[in-house]
Amino acid sequence: MNDESSSPTSPASAEELAALRDVIRKFGRETIRPQIFALEETGEFPRELYQELGALGAFGCIFPEDQGGSNMGFEALALVAEELAYAYPPISAAMNLQAATVPLTIKNWGRPDQVDKYVPGLIAGQVLGSNAMTEPDGGTDLLGAMRTTAVKDGDDYIINGSKMWITNANVADVVIVFCKTDTSAKHKGVSAFLVDTKTPGFEASRVKCRVLGSLMPTNSLTFTDMRVPADRMLGNEGEGFKVAMNAMDFGRLVVASRSLGLARACLDASVEYADLRTAFGEKIGSFQMIKHQIADMTAEVAAATELVYKAARMFDSGTVATREAAIAKYFAGEVCNRAAQATTEIFGGYAFSDELPISIYLNYAKLWQTGEGSANLQRILIADDALGWKPMDRHRKATANA
Ligand SMILES: Cc1cc2nc3c(=O)[nH]c(=O)nc-3n(C[C@H](O)[C@H](O)[C@H](O)COP(=O)(O)OP(=O)(O)OC[C@H]3O[C@@H](n4cnc5c(N)ncnc54)[C@H](O)[C@@H]3O)c2cc1C
Repeated sequence: MNDESSSPTSPASAEELAALRDVIRKFGRETIRPQIFALEETGEFPRELYQELGALGAFGCIFPEDQGGSNMGFEALALVAEELAYAYPPISAAMNLQAATVPLTIKNWGRPDQVDKYVPGLIAGQVLGSNAMTEPDGGTDLLGAMRTTAVKDGDDYIINGSKMWITNANVADVVIVFCKTDTSAKHKGVSAFLVDTKTPGFEASRVKCRVLGSLMPTNSLTFTDMRVPADRMLGNEGEGFKVAMNAMDFGRLVVASRSLGLARACLDASVEYADLRTAFGEKIGSFQMIKHQIADMTAEVAAATELVYKAARMFDSGTVATREAAIAKYFAGEVCNRAAQATTEIFGGYAFSDELPISIYLNYAKLWQTGEGSANLQRILIADDALGWKPMDRHRKATANA
């Protein structure tokens, strides 16, 4: 079984990274953006876009070639996530589920036959993945809120319980489910399972979230006497919290990159609009208050870029980057929120038109502050680490993998 300390990736050259950025940016501009409103109208899951992105190599950056990846590394992963969020935020949800958290958790903690069965399909965008940690009683206090149990029965575990807010679970083929295998233990009472969504007892029900549009479906899950073979456990019994924390590192880097991409989208939209829209006979960009907003966005996007790519490069070098990923996630999330708010103000009434994506920008900026550990939680982690009370890497060995 693999563990967390497998060898670091071979990072791509600056030229290769620039070429990848060009490809994804072009796909965003020419393929994603022109169809977003039509896709939102139908409400259907954008399965074809996932497959096209898989075929372009968008999901394989941190996987070796023999698994269908490009082995370009975490910097490449971050820039793809950034560009997809720039193109249209809901589509970039794919980056955790198809390109990082789900396939990497399987690669790091699954058996070789599970890696062969799922990883190539996930990064090709053909197999859809989902990650189920949060429960109805809460996501921040993951351990305290976890009621889902897995009880050993012969060669199987029987899982009962429920999950909440699980992205893409209604369309997924495979879901990583975190359960309590020992309700009296804390961290060591959690185990992770790779669950086929066709398993009897698995049920996903869509949670309607009008403000997020229709392209990133989120679900409540119910498990009723769901029998899962013991060999579907990821890691050993009691290692689930470690599996979850390891997944969070990569997840946070991806969310930070998405926030950065969305902040850039806000900045570019604001600059374009401020140069076009006039009031009192002048371009609104000539008013000092609008200039301040554009200047702040520009400076903050530049700072967030440094933090995101610093964390990505640390992952590429095989260094534990739990702290840097949390800082990048927190800071890029704040920057993105301020940018989305300023953009909403700069667009005035048009920010609320369904013909522009600005109101979606605001909602996704807020969502990404919450997901993969809320802004408050990141602050707690960062402060406890700074105070020396709880070093952030205490649950990790080296986190770079591929
Ligand atoms: C659209 C969407 C998609 C999602 N997708 C997934 C997914 O695919 N898989 C998954 O597992 N989860 C998913 N989530 C869940 C997400 O990770 C959680 O919403 C998040 O972790 C916060 O948990 P909560 O909503 O239960 O808020 P709570 O934990 O109830 O927190 C509520 C508020 O209290 C604050 N708070 C809590 N504790 C403290 C504290 N000690 N100090 C200060 N403030 C505190 C929080 O910061 C937050 O502001 C998704 C959520 C949404 C909305």
